[in-house]
Amino acid sequence: MTVSDLPIERLSIHQVTLMQCDFRESIECFARHGVHQTAIWRDKLNEIGLDEAVRILQDNDMTVNALCPGGLLTEIDDKSFNAALDLNRRWIDQSAALGADSLVIITGGLADGETNLAAARDRALEGFFRLIDPARAVGIRLAVEPLHPMVCGGRSVISTVANALDLLDDLGADDVFGLAVDSYAVWWDLALSDQLARAGARLLHFHASDWLRDTKDVRFDRGMPGDGMIDNRQIRGWMEKAGFSGPVEVEIFSRDHWWQHPADEVVRTIVDRRATHL
Ligand code: ZN
Repeated sequence: MTVSDLPIERLSIHQVTLMQCDFRESIECFARHGVHQTAIWRDKLNEIGLDEAVRILQDNDMTVNALCPGGLLTEIDDKSFNAALDLNRRWIDQSAALGADSLVIITGGLADGETNLAAARDRALEGFFRLIDPARAVGIRLAVEPLHPMVCGGRSVISTVANALDLLDDLGADDVFGLAVDSYAVWWDLALSDQLARAGARLLHFHASDWLRDTKDVRFDRGMPGDGMIDNRQIRGWMEKAGFSGPVEVEIFSRDHWWQHPADEVVRTIVDRRATHL
């Protein structure tokens, strides 16, 4: 299967990729290199506030794919669970104000001391149910992102595209919910191509980075596309075969490497790798 080259108009870079920058610096750096799509990181938005963020995005002609990350709805006690729901309602409204397509949501992990994976999954399902009306009211999609099984305990009890699609089937609201596929989280799954075909129109986002053979940290040592073991272009091809035509969103958490480099060098490298590895 040959997959066409990715035009720069379809390249997005998540704001979290430039953790060395503040909100404004990251957006201006993307624009300087001809990249006009991004996903907004909640912590960076909080630093600056919604009004100023919207102004900076408009000044730089930036399209916002999503706000990340929402969800985290596996709290056990009612008070914490309801507080998490309130936060998500706020993030949904912020997503709308930013002009984003989606709020990307992860389930959250198990509670402290808990050993019941299925119960944690059921609480996330209940929480997601309760977000249907608020999301529908403002036209924001909720993109469920499975994460790597190594972070199942703390971040996401949904680890595969198959698990995520089963969850979406249970939710039964495909006008609101869809899938964010992050190559770093699911590349190892031999059933990936079949599951992407099953997902079809529910494919909303494609996040890309690379898995380094000697990774030092499963959350904060992601590689630049082309430096590791993931064939991002092949995965994009599988997604496009299933009907996906959205951007490729590069998302690199790299505490000890790329977050320590000058932002322009990071973005220039991503733009270069687009031609060979995205
Ligand atoms: Zn992601």
